Amino acid sequence: MEYLSNIDDLKKHLGTKKVDNEIKNEIINGININSMAFKISKYLFDLIDWKHPAHDPIRKQFLPFKKEYIQDHDKSCYDSLSETENKKNYRIIHRYPNKVLFLATKVCKSYCAFCTRSYLVGPSTNVKIKSIKLSSILDEISNLKDYLKAHKNITDVIISGGDVNTIKTSILDNILTTLGGLSSIKVVRIATRGFTFDPFELDENSEFYRVITKHSFSLRRKNIELSIQTHFNHSNEITLNTRRILRSYYQRNVIVRNQTVLLKNINDDKDSMINLIEKLIDSNVIPYYVYQMDMVKNTEHFRTKIRDSINLEKDLYGFFSGFYTPKFVIDLPDGGGKRILTQYEKYIPNHGCYEYYSCIDKDKICRYYDPL
Ligand SMILES: *Cc1c(COP(=O)(O)O)cnc(C)c1O
Ligand code: SF4
Repeated sequence: MEYLSNIDDLKKHLGTKKVDNEIKNEIINGININSMAFKISKYLFDLIDWKHPAHDPIRKQFLPFKKEYIQDHDKSCYDSLSETENKKNYRIIHRYPNKVLFLATKVCKSYCAFCTRSYLVGPSTNVKIKSIKLSSILDEISNLKDYLKAHKNITDVIISGGDVNTIKTSILDNILTTLGGLSSIKVVRIATRGFTFDPFELDENSEFYRVITKHSFSLRRKNIELSIQTHFNHSNEITLNTRRILRSYYQRNVIVRNQTVLLKNINDDKDSMINLIEKLIDSNVIPYYVYQMDMVKNTEHFRTKIRDSINLEKDLYGFFSGFYTPKFVIDLPDGGGKRILTQYEKYIPNHGCYEYYSCIDKDKICRYYDPL
């Protein structure tokens, strides 16, 4: 796969798209203040409507203009979900009693400017030094195995990162074989944004497809559900090829669920969300969650107000089968876990503050603040 990850290449490519200098400068100056490193697949770059870049939902996610950035809320921070506190080591995040998240990698094939794991994912940038080093993956797979053997109550394992589509398929194969050998495991999920970055890398001829379909079949016979979690935020990310490729997983009995991040002026209007859900259903993907954008530093311009998010969710009811209507959720600051957006206890208007009870530690209050 081809990527753009250096500024000279980017300038050249913007030139071939006849992008004017003002926009070019906005993009390059935007890169200089981004917490995420500059990297975008050629495929995604070409999906951007370069005749109207100011409004393009893909451009906004990967190449924000400098002028789009606004001042952070003073409660925003890196690692707003306190993941590093819930880590048993840097790869295993064990927040809920019965499920763990395993970080298979900190690399992605493109870097999203709003990334919740900007504290970890990708190389350092001008504004964010990333010093967390992950230890060797093979050692960590054996650590994960020991951990799961010692915690038989864990039934659900999410393999995430980073993007799982960046790890060697032999490693993925190893992880799935390991999990399939543990009788306590019921659910295994593979998280990848690869279908957005370049769906051809995961098509019927790919090693990824071969490994996933092979294990889906063998795990299913052991009554373990293997699924893929995709991350599409806008209908422009789903082309006819994407649909064809996603359908090929469905045809081989692989469950695919999507998670969307609700992003201001990108997908926070009714039409965008309906178009996205329609395309997901048409691709045999289940719209699972829509996430309230976390209070992560340097992403303020992506955040929506909770009231607006709830109103959007209300607008979506009645259009789709119940099981195709995504749940709007918030991953609570301070590691409180995920809650349905409407499950807050109290709203304090003069601070734009919503108080939720943690779903991990029932007496703990977690506070989310609307953007100013
Ligand atoms: C989101 C998440 C999960 C999975 O939660 P579901 O609601 O079951 O999808 C598991 N562990 C961590 C740390 C998470 O953030
Ligand atoms: S794909 Fe996920 S982990 Fe990678 S940069 Fe985007 S949001 Fe972050």
